[in-house]
Amino acid sequence: MVELKLQHIYKTYNKDIQAVNNFNLDIKDKEFIVLVGPSGCGKSTLLRLLAGLEDLSQGQIIMDGQYMNDVSPKDRDVAFVFQNYALYPHMNVYQNMAFGLKSRKFPKDEIDRRIKNAAQILNIEEHLDRKPKALSGGQCQRVALGRAIVRDAKLFLMDEPLSNLDTKLRTQMRSEIIKLHQRLQTTTIYVTHDQTEAMTMATRLVVMNNGKIQQVGVPKEVYDKP
Ligand code: ADP
Ligand code: ADP
Repeated sequence: MVELKLQHIYKTYNKDIQAVNNFNLDIKDKEFIVLVGPSGCGKSTLLRLLAGLEDLSQGQIIMDGQYMNDVSPKDRDVAFVFQNYALYPHMNVYQNMAFGLKSRKFPKDEIDRRIKNAAQILNIEEHLDRKPKALSGGQCQRVALGRAIVRDAKLFLMDEPLSNLDTKLRTQMRSEIIKLHQRLQTTTIYVTHDQTEAMTMATRLVVMNNGKIQQVGVPKEVYDKP
């Protein structure tokens, strides 16, 4: 269960770049929010603020009643999936998935149980011993998703996770992520440029422009609006 309140969020870089400019949104448990908008409108910055990878300039992020401003990334119940997968090249798939749990001092048997479960869900059980360079793009993206799943986090943040994949794989992974959300029901904020992803994945679509919300609603509503 997670309830997320984003209140009057501002992020200014170098004193004059207003990347996020009074962003306000309440997100309910189990929502799959798709965030779209022109390049440079602040989407990635917003995700990084939620993950604690950047500090807010102003405003509040409240997760289940807790003010997050001073909570370190490691102590946030949030898992991030990046466009470039961000796997550790020197670690095999198993170690990549274990890393976040080890650094949080999870017991070895629990780590093992979670990895085997996630590997089964994502169909990468055969690849646990492989290093990322021996995997295809789709397999790398599954490992990146696996790293998020094993965390059992309350919130998934995904920044264009499929944009490095070819069209066919993209379509396949899109339906896999939809199924994953139906299965785990983890509240998700998903950034994309792809209108098909927005239409098929979002329970609510947020259109961002110049650091703030321009439109928000179910996808059909937003796209049908003249
Ligand atoms: P989007 O993800 O929508 O493309 P970003 O959040 O990456 O947008 O960027 C929003 C604005 O903030 C852009 O003008 C970008 O140049 C600027 N920006 C992003 N990150 C930094 C940074 N680390 N330092 C300075 N400016 C940044
Ligand atoms: P360490 O940091 O202690 O060297 P590893 O990350 O290499 O540990 O592995 C931790 C444990 O996870 C090992 O004891 C092993 O049982 C299990 N393990 C590692 N790789 C795999 C794998 N590919 N498949 C199944 N279990 C693995």
